[in-house]
Amino acid sequence: MVLNGKTALVTGASRGIGRAIALALARAGARVAVNYVRKAEAAEEVVALIKEAGGEGIALQADVSRQNEATELVERTLTAFGRLDVLVNNAGIARDGLCLRLKPEDWEAVLATNLNGVFYCTQAALKPMLRQREGRIINLTSVVAQLGNPGQTNYAAAKAGVIGFTKSLAKEMAGRGILVNAVAPGFIVTEMTQNLGEAVAENFKARIPLGRPGRPEEVAEVVLFLASPAASYITGQVINVDGGLAMAM
Ligand code: NAD
Repeated sequence: MVLNGKTALVTGASRGIGRAIALALARAGARVAVNYVRKAEAAEEVVALIKEAGGEGIALQADVSRQNEATELVERTLTAFGRLDVLVNNAGIARDGLCLRLKPEDWEAVLATNLNGVFYCTQAALKPMLRQREGRIINLTSVVAQLGNPGQTNYAAAKAGVIGFTKSLAKEMAGRGILVNAVAPGFIVTEMTQNLGEAVAENFKARIPLGRPGRPEEVAEVVLFLASPAASYITGQVINVDGGLAMAM
């Protein structure tokens, strides 16, 4: 129970990678706030699983792309748990389309959730973390930020922004006990990747050196490590969890 006595907020945690992260952090002893934007039932199911396993969790609705909601989300987590040790900025969306025809609203929506949301939640979380003189911030980026991907200029720009944000904030917070890192998944089986066309998915899978897509739990284990005392000397890093995909391309 490496996170006994700690509290965590995971954004977009009602399904996919966020759900696996919430469950992994709770299993390690953290009290976990499970953020969701629309699917209350799915978030309550994650909380029920946490409680069944003897842990503590709450479901909190908020759209992280709206600053007031992101700030309130952090405040409600603090009201519930009294402190905030780990923020996992996981919420993300994709609205794919070739740049030439990309609708401005699809550009803006992806930047709003995947990049602005990270800033809003982080800025709110820094206040309690600075008071505590410790904290961990873990941001979900993507191999697409490193490699580019046709049809994903908006997504790649937002996720590359997350990497720059992570490294800059890591430097700002290094003297304050707050460690800031990013995790870059490759091709992980979730609803997000189920929405890719079959041809795109097959093309991706064929390039993975480990020969298979990843599972959300395999990303969650790395986030748990970064949240744990074992990662006390790691900041400003981007850890790929991609079966070797970025190395191979
Ligand atoms: P997913 O679509 O299954 O889950 C994303 C979650 O974010 C959903 O629960 C959704 O409701 C939530 N969300 C979306 N907009 C939100 C908002 N404005 N406020 C709050 N919550 C919001 O996707 P996933 O595959 O589990 O992805 C999780 C993260 O990992 C994302 O940031 C994604 O970009 C990143 N990622 C995923 C993969 C992959 O292969 N699945 C690869 C690289 C990076």
